[in-house]
Amino acid sequence: MKKSALDKWICAQENITCLTGDILEDLQLKKLNALLAKVKRRGGFYSDLPEHLTSLRELDNLPFTTAEDLAENAASFLLGSQSEVSRIISGVTSGTTGPSKRIFYSDGDLENTVTFFAAGISEMTAAGETVLITMPFAVSGGLGDLIARAVELLGAKPVRAGSDLSYAELSEIMCLECPDSYIGMPIPLLSLLRFCGENSTLKHALVSADVCPVSVQREIEDFLGSSLFPHYGLRECCLGGAVTCQAHEGMHVRENHIIPEIIGIDEKPVRNGDYGELVITTIGMEVMPLIRYKTGDRARILAEPCPCGAVSARIEVEGRLDDNLRMSDIDEVLFDIKELIDVKAEFAGDVLELKAYVSGNAQIREEIQKRVSPLLPADKIKISTQICDGNCKSLYVGKRFIG
Ligand SMILES: [Zn+2]
Repeated sequence: MKKSALDKWICAQENITCLTGDILEDLQLKKLNALLAKVKRRGGFYSDLPEHLTSLRELDNLPFTTAEDLAENAASFLLGSQSEVSRIISGVTSGTTGPSKRIFYSDGDLENTVTFFAAGISEMTAAGETVLITMPFAVSGGLGDLIARAVELLGAKPVRAGSDLSYAELSEIMCLECPDSYIGMPIPLLSLLRFCGENSTLKHALVSADVCPVSVQREIEDFLGSSLFPHYGLRECCLGGAVTCQAHEGMHVRENHIIPEIIGIDEKPVRNGDYGELVITTIGMEVMPLIRYKTGDRARILAEPCPCGAVSARIEVEGRLDDNLRMSDIDEVLFDIKELIDVKAEFAGDVLELKAYVSGNAQIREEIQKRVSPLLPADKIKISTQICDGNCKSLYVGKRFIG
């Protein structure tokens, strides 16, 4: 089996000839200490931290950084001057929950993400192929733009569809461009395949930026005839975090830039293999590095070495740590209904309103009701359905959430 392209990328980035566990640990400790020295000199949010650690194990002793800290003190995390900032992302990261925060990137941060994306995409795309991209293209340096640049680096052709086209427009692009692979969020891909999948030329897909329920993943893989390449990224690590290799068993972390940890509810590290909250220390971010940042994502670090032979750690991410009803819970039970194209969920008071695009089936409202009933009592659910035609668009342009 081909070794993950990520280890090769780390070697190229760090100017080393081969990657071993010891080399990686030394590299991380060196970068972490350089970062601690820098933030001490800078005198911002991290000025009380020690200037030097003798081992990565000592990272456990440092305090956490939270989303609230970023929301309240964004500028106090900034290294260097404002002139080095190439891009700022503002807003909440997960649906409508969580504090609004600003994240800063330098040109170097964005370039690192582009080449990191290229390494991940190279697992499924070769030079000369065509890649349909349905991530947002609203701004230069945004997610869609960075992915398109990564695709071009591989000598492949990006089709910049974006996240706001109707199913008819996407269907036309599918016929004209005959894309070999897809990069975007998972449910819009399933919706597209359900709407016009009979003419699809897609053979592979890299899905990211949202939870991919198991039932959704299974059906997409049946359509494609191949396993998905999930990617994990978040704004705090310049949109790129971990990518899937040919083994399809977890995602390799860009460990030269990110030290991942998993903590339990007592905030103590858990054993590899156990689920908990993902905490990241972004030693490779140039202008806004974070130390022990609590992502709010439920994840685990896989304990066994990857069958591909790569050294970089692998994570599996399940979604947000949240006791409340999540959109992924609704998606998981509803997309089992084959006639469902898309669904949007919104609370009006304590009633959950579900708006569904469907391709037919007179009984579909009863089907939806039946599947959602274990999550909420029947009198707390209101369902409306509409036959999906070519003018309809994905009901979410970004990450899915309950409004
Ligand atoms: Zn691997």
